[in-house]
Amino acid sequence: MKLRFLGATGTVTGSRYLISDDKHRLLVDCGMYQGVKTLRRRNWAAFPVDPHTIDAVVLTHAHIDHSGYLPALVKNGFKGTIYCTKGTHELCKVLLPDAGFLQEEDAKYAFRKKYSKHTKPEPLFTEKDAWEALKHFQSLHYHETFEPVKGFHVTFTPAGHILGSSCVHVHHKAADKTIVFSGDVGRQNDIIMRPPEPIQKADVLVCESTYGDRLHSEVDPETELATIIKRTAGRGGIVLIPAFAVGRAQMLLYVIHKIMGEGRIPKLPVYLNSPMAIKATEIFCRHHKEHKLTAEQCGTIDENTKFVRKVEESIELDAARYPCVIISASGMASGGRVLHHLKTLLPNERNSIVFAGFQAPGTRGDALVNGAESVKIHGEYWPVKADVFNLDSLSAHGDYQEILEWLEQGNLRPLTVYVTHGELVASDLMRRRICEKFEWDVEVPELFDEVEV
Ligand SMILES: [Zn+2]
Repeated sequence: MKLRFLGATGTVTGSRYLISDDKHRLLVDCGMYQGVKTLRRRNWAAFPVDPHTIDAVVLTHAHIDHSGYLPALVKNGFKGTIYCTKGTHELCKVLLPDAGFLQEEDAKYAFRKKYSKHTKPEPLFTEKDAWEALKHFQSLHYHETFEPVKGFHVTFTPAGHILGSSCVHVHHKAADKTIVFSGDVGRQNDIIMRPPEPIQKADVLVCESTYGDRLHSEVDPETELATIIKRTAGRGGIVLIPAFAVGRAQMLLYVIHKIMGEGRIPKLPVYLNSPMAIKATEIFCRHHKEHKLTAEQCGTIDENTKFVRKVEESIELDAARYPCVIISASGMASGGRVLHHLKTLLPNERNSIVFAGFQAPGTRGDALVNGAESVKIHGEYWPVKADVFNLDSLSAHGDYQEILEWLEQGNLRPLTVYVTHGELVASDLMRRRICEKFEWDVEVPELFDEVEV
């Protein structure tokens, strides 16, 4: 059996791995590249393997950097089935059409502004293409072994990162070898997600390393958030939280309503301004058996949050000048409604901007948490006067210590670990750490490397 790295090497996006034997090809994850332009440009290159020749796809989770290329794959000839957990399927029904819609909007914008070298710029895929791709989906339960293509037995185990997220275990019968893909690994003590399930058997492990070079701060995120909100409201300001629509937005709503209920922050209106995050919150609450929050706690989120659906409501909210909390996507401030709020709120020192997770290099979020004095939004520079915080203790990714702990909990003797899904330095440090702790063979693969398993 062969394993080929088609993405997420030296970067945290574009997860794509190909496993093959003489007869079949199985793709694990089919993500889009995000972040700096050189990476995003890769989305437009022909897929490195002819989509017609791929028999099936298996997904670790719904985030766009793991699933977002699927509509293009189907558009370019993939005919097989896409397997994932039920939670991932539900979330992809929201995320993929939205990604298609954004692609179409970008193409229209490029046409209007004439900044494309094409006379009529085309989207990578459309919303319709996304619905077409969704027809190929089939969902399964965790721990239910299935055979997506002959000879490859696949099982999902919970990865604790977002609703539906999983580690993908692929057992190749003839070779009698098991490759496990970690996907994105959650926290040991997340506020809303249960910890990732330890891996019991693997010959090869493909492991993420988003925080391979960092530890999350030990400060209690509830206390940190309470302090920021209280201080900002006290001076009449607004707290804006750019958040990933799927996962962190739900966690933030829960925490904010909890500390408000406990009287640790004043009673303020809490807005969720992202149609996608609103849908993701509904899905999250419907699947309350799959995470730590009870139906009652989900009910509290629903009752106390002001959901901003229409564009007119979003514009109205942007004119607000009273203390409140606004959660809006995207999480790295690379697009979406949060940009309008940033333009309004950044130039005033009364306000606070709170980032709640990993900020990929090249994004506005990265510039802001690194102290940029101004940022470019919609073609203009906006001064940064508001307080900017990066609460990475709210991250949905385990740091290297948590990943090592998780690996230690399993009964693992892998022959080889391939470290991916990290910036170069993070992946290399993770490699060293796993190597030193377990004395396993650990490698950081390069793009398009192929190994024999
Ligand atoms: Zn993810």
